[in-house]
Amino acid sequence: MSDWSAKNPYMTQITENYILNGEGSKKETRHIVFALGDSGLDYKVGDALGVLAENPPHIVDDLIAVQGWDPEMTVTTHNGERSLYDALKKDFEVHMANKKFVQSLAEKVVSSGMKISMSIVSRTRNESSWSANEDQQAPPSLKPSVPTDDPAAQVEAITSDTKAIEDYLWTRDYIDIMREFDVKYTPEEFFELAGRLKPRLYSIASSHDAHPGFVELTVGIVRFEYNGRARGGLCTQFMADEIDTSGAPIGVFMSPTKSFVLPDDKDIDIIMVGPGTGIAPFRAFMEQRVHDGGGGKNWLFFGDQSEKTEFYYKDEIESWIDGGHLYRFTTAWSRDQEEKIYVQHRLKEHGAEIWEWFERGAYFYICGDKTYMAKDVHRALIQIAIDHGGMSEEDATHFIGDTMMKEQKRYLRDVY
Ligand SMILES: Cc1cc2nc3c(=O)[nH]c(=O)nc-3n(C[C@H](O)[C@H](O)[C@H](O)COP(=O)(O)OP(=O)(O)OC[C@H]3O[C@@H](n4cnc5c(N)ncnc54)[C@H](O)[C@@H]3O)c2cc1C
Repeated sequence: MSDWSAKNPYMTQITENYILNGEGSKKETRHIVFALGDSGLDYKVGDALGVLAENPPHIVDDLIAVQGWDPEMTVTTHNGERSLYDALKKDFEVHMANKKFVQSLAEKVVSSGMKISMSIVSRTRNESSWSANEDQQAPPSLKPSVPTDDPAAQVEAITSDTKAIEDYLWTRDYIDIMREFDVKYTPEEFFELAGRLKPRLYSIASSHDAHPGFVELTVGIVRFEYNGRARGGLCTQFMADEIDTSGAPIGVFMSPTKSFVLPDDKDIDIIMVGPGTGIAPFRAFMEQRVHDGGGGKNWLFFGDQSEKTEFYYKDEIESWIDGGHLYRFTTAWSRDQEEKIYVQHRLKEHGAEIWEWFERGAYFYICGDKTYMAKDVHRALIQIAIDHGGMSEEDATHFIGDTMMKEQKRYLRDVY
């Protein structure tokens, strides 16, 4: 076994990197292939790949320019001595500002002499009363309205509660904020505030048996724009824009799973629900099941916005169907008709058959969006147990969430 890790990643190259979406799509989802070379790295289906990215050069350049720093100066970070440019590019997350930095503005704006007196607040509510002058904090819900051209008051309004900071940060990065408040930091002060650069995990979309020496991913590139400047995700933009297939090095390591695994018994049926990039591990599962040649049936639920532009891996899916490997394939294209249709709707439509599969011992896998999709699918499964298993709501909730998921370990999730 190799000992590559987040701290000691294997430096490799991307050998293939192409967009899976059709023309006119609002999304950019890529298939990205990494060579494993002489790393000795191995993986099983269900595992994730850790990827270490760097900040976009234009952001590092702008940050240095706006602060008037010398990019060549030697600095010390948690990774040792290096040039300031390298530290900003590789050691910290400088592409998005964080709360700690916004909170530091209070100190900066005060110490640069910009703070002006806050108007005195005195209100009474629910038998409690507060009064505040420039030295006292008013409860967040009772903040006085502030003139928008007063920097110190603006900072106070932004830092007054978590939601206000989050809203503020949603459309701004460090460069925007530094410009907005005309604040200067030393590199050391900035390092104290900025978060350390973290690796990102990606569900592996290939079977090592089918692609010896390579590991493949399905990646949704995060891009957005505010205040006339293009922004986006650190790792996805790095893979799409900076590395592409240039041969530039990129650090990777394996993040093995203990639970999100195929049944040992290859004759067991499996149901896979993987809309969007959630299809990644199921491409790997299908490749493995085809390679292993067991008798278990495979049923894949896939979906995204439109069949025309988001039917990822269409040729492979069709060849699995034609070859008799994919027994059932059910799609949910959310925007191809008037009403929005998602995978959970399709699950309910096929509830009777899904319940039969469950009764025969089928495993159920889900991958993709944790915030909405996974919860909706969980609720759909409970409904199926009620409608087709004749259970009460309480029994159905217990069966899906405890019996299948925790005791039998045949309801498995890879959600993010
Ligand atoms: C186990 C696991 C498996 C995963 N598998 C996959 C996979 O197979 N494929 C895949 O694509 N991803 C996968 N992910 C997610 C992946 O790890 C990254 O989180 C994702 O690619 C974004 O990383 P990034 O560095 O590009 O973005 P980051 O730099 O981390 O930025 C993302 C953040 O940007 C912010 N943001 C997004 N849109 C906007 C907007 N419009 N305006 C303002 N802010 C915005 C949000 O705060 C969001 O959290 C997985 C995650 C886990 C934990």
